[in-house]
Amino acid sequence: NHTIGRRGEERSRKAFEEAKKVLPGGVNSPVRAFKSVGLTPMYIDHGIGSRVYDIDGNSFIDYVGSWGPLIMGHAHPEVVKALQETAAKGTSFGAPTLLETEMAKLVAERVPSIDVVRMVNSGTEATMSAIRLARGYTGRSRIMKFEGSYHGHADSLLIKAGSGVATLGLPDSPGVPEGVAANTIAVPYNDLESVKLAFERFGEEIAGVIVEPVAGNMGVVPPQPGFLEGLRKITAQYGSLLIFDEVMTGFRVHMNCAQGRFGITPDLTCLGKVIGGGLPVGAYGGKREIMEQIAPTGPIYQAGTLSGNPLAMAAGYTTLSLLTPEVYERLERLSAKLADGFERNAKERGIPCTINRVGSMVCPFFTDRQVVNYETAKSSDLDLFRRYFTALVEEGINVAPSQFEGMFVSGVHTDEDIERTIEAHRRALQKL
Ligand code: PMP
Repeated sequence: NHTIGRRGEERSRKAFEEAKKVLPGGVNSPVRAFKSVGLTPMYIDHGIGSRVYDIDGNSFIDYVGSWGPLIMGHAHPEVVKALQETAAKGTSFGAPTLLETEMAKLVAERVPSIDVVRMVNSGTEATMSAIRLARGYTGRSRIMKFEGSYHGHADSLLIKAGSGVATLGLPDSPGVPEGVAANTIAVPYNDLESVKLAFERFGEEIAGVIVEPVAGNMGVVPPQPGFLEGLRKITAQYGSLLIFDEVMTGFRVHMNCAQGRFGITPDLTCLGKVIGGGLPVGAYGGKREIMEQIAPTGPIYQAGTLSGNPLAMAAGYTTLSLLTPEVYERLERLSAKLADGFERNAKERGIPCTINRVGSMVCPFFTDRQVVNYETAKSSDLDLFRRYFTALVEEGINVAPSQFEGMFVSGVHTDEDIERTIEAHRRALQKL
């Protein structure tokens, strides 16, 4: 008996006030506070399939999906069952379990660049560890990243970052020592010329290039033809490692991740989100020769009390098992339908709009320009986005409260969900 769309928010408002007394900004991750859109965040009571339900009795068709992980929707019966059965046997042992090997085999089978994989507890841990490995393996200190990309909150990666950092306008966080920041080179996404120039200057000192093969933290920005190929070539030429941060794109844009979709094989791959099926998981992997440089086979240290946690492995393994080729065909079809509908609506209203989409990552920008990097992403009308977001929520559509995030379609969204969303979007645009 929840109503569709946001009607009341009394309970959420009270809950948020209470939370602010004991949590910084009331939240455990900044974007959840809805600061940039100036609204009270919805307090979620539960989620089922493609819907979330808040404590004020409102329901929403959800395109946040916990910011990417829930590719098979909320509380998928098979994931819940696997979690219940696993939890009943104990939740953590700090000793090897069979499921860890099963999970690693499945990941190695599906991800072209991965022979050997180490499980961690978040995307941040995955990228931080991969960077340490790249530095240890090459004996070099500098790393290259792209402006507007987000790779978690490790010191060396919080330079010109996207996601919440971009949303809140904090591109270079205080607390990152100068010495650490000086080792990070940030260049524009999709700009091979800048990459080449930096390599001409610092090439022998660059341990690795970390890149989101589809940028998903400045909205959604696809790699232009030749970009990933160029990175592969230049890193190989200089003996730097190419690191794909597939925390968001891994198992999201293709059964074999973005590297399978684009046919480019990096040296190291970082995973997270989908492989945890909604539990806290990250992973990094690559060729045996590189990965065995980490302890206990090698000297580069990285560890974790809860790494490979049974519950996380159970949710992740079950989620990956559900991801058949048919699911990816469905994701492609529904996402194309959604993007087409949004584009029609914007044209009809004469609202400037560029829609970027790769598989089930979809992002409408309020700009006429082609969005190919952070600079062009920022050309979107952010004030219009804020009003659009408010209108969408009123219409019962849950998207991330930022222009610099995409929408995630799931394998359990229905044609009816997509049609209702397009209709809600049309009404939302009318209100602007
Ligand atoms: N890399 C990418 C590409 C991401 O999108 C994110 C999170 N949005 C991270 C790393 C960090 O992952 P986590 O939030 O699990 O630490």
